Amino acid sequence: MQEPPPFNATRLIDPPATRPLRQDMIQQQLRPRGIDDPNVLAAMATIPREQFIPSIHREDAYGDGPLPIGDGQTISQPFMVAIMAQLLCPDGHGTVLEIGTGSGYGAAILSRLATRVITLERIPRLLDQARARWRELGLDNIEGILTDGTLGYPPQAPYEGICVTAAAPSTPTALIQQLHPLRGRLVIPTGPRFMQTLHCIHRDAQGNTVTQSHFSCVFVPLIGQQGWEEKDA
Ligand code: SAM
Repeated sequence: MQEPPPFNATRLIDPPATRPLRQDMIQQQLRPRGIDDPNVLAAMATIPREQFIPSIHREDAYGDGPLPIGDGQTISQPFMVAIMAQLLCPDGHGTVLEIGTGSGYGAAILSRLATRVITLERIPRLLDQARARWRELGLDNIEGILTDGTLGYPPQAPYEGICVTAAAPSTPTALIQQLHPLRGRLVIPTGPRFMQTLHCIHRDAQGNTVTQSHFSCVFVPLIGQQGWEEKDA
């Protein structure tokens, strides 16, 4: 197996000016809610969330909630990014697929936990912005692709982890099919339009799908062939 890439660190990674804010976020929002994976905590401690937020909201970058990023979309709450990464449990190896690039922050966190991240987005402007942010930070193991993520990304399957950051009415079968049969985990919020449950799905030794349900959450809709129709969003 390939080793995870070293930080191709630029001076923008872990900027000292906002380091105390990241530490407060960890102590007040993440650890008390059960985030204890050292690799997840290290990623949350170093990736500057303010770089992924429109300037008018930057003062709230380390607040305990989602923030608007334009086009009716949001950057997820820090805790949600961290718990999804922790449930995915990447071991520093393999390729992780993210559905819903948004600001690019979630992919930046996952890029510290896997060899490679492929992230799919349906809104061109968001993807262009995210690519520019990764470039600026020197995060060169992330590939952003403009496509309907409900169908996954077959060319690079199977995936060690799939993280869906928008809410689906039910789990797209395409994503189950693209999970690594032994090690793959899929983290996805599913349910009615305005209230979902966060699920973690894997296959057992017999190849049966096993679903663990975690907690209630609210995400923007996953719009596409195996998600919501645009008119329902
Ligand atoms: N992970 C993001 C971050 O760190 O900022 C948060 C993502 S936001 C909550 C959900 C994103 O999913 C939006 O950017 C939305 O455009 C995208 N999305 C919705 N349906 C999609 C689809 N079928 N394929 C790809 N992206 C989709």
